[in-house]
Amino acid sequence: MARYGRRIRLESVPSAAEWAKVAAATICGKPKEIKALPWFWSDQYDLKLQIAGLNTGYDEVVLSGNPTRDCDFTCYYLRSAELIAADCINRPRDFMFSKRVITQQLPIGRAELSPAGAV
Ligand SMILES: Cc1cc2nc3c(=O)[nH]c(=O)nc-3n(C[C@H](O)[C@H](O)[C@H](O)COP(=O)(O)OP(=O)(O)OC[C@H]3O[C@@H](n4cnc5c(N)ncnc54)[C@H](O)[C@@H]3O)c2cc1C
Repeated sequence: MARYGRRIRLESVPSAAEWAKVAAATICGKPKEIKALPWFWSDQYDLKLQIAGLNTGYDEVVLSGNPTRDCDFTCYYLRSAELIAADCINRPRDFMFSKRVITQQLPIGRAELSPAGAV
């Protein structure tokens, strides 16, 4: 995967859908690279889990929300102060925000991710 500079096996429905497009394009003689950010989702009872990006190599975690009290929170993963991935639990807005920030490599401050600060 060009974004990560290595081969990656991603077992998820969004990844399967992306690879289907690549396979179809290749069969039609128009090879293309996967540029979409890896993302994952799962519904587990009343929890909606959404993951944007891959957190491999993170050096800092910023937590937004209180997992011991609430059923909605987000773990942001940063590497050298850049957001590289986010685990969002019942937080679809955080997920959409993270996808955009990671895809566009936008600068983001820790305070914007969580007023409570890094953990
Ligand atoms: C228990 C479980 C939970 C999962 N939960 C999630 C989740 O929450 N979120 C998520 O994103 N991903 C999840 N996944 C992963 C996701 O289901 C797979 O990554 C995805 O379905 C792969 O899609 P695919 O089209 O490559 O293969 P498949 O979905 O496996 O489709 C392959 C199809 O080809 C058919 N087939 C196989 N051999 C032949 C043949 N010889 N001739 C004709 N047909 C054939 C099969 O019957 C099947 O219908 C889960 C997987 C498992 C096993």
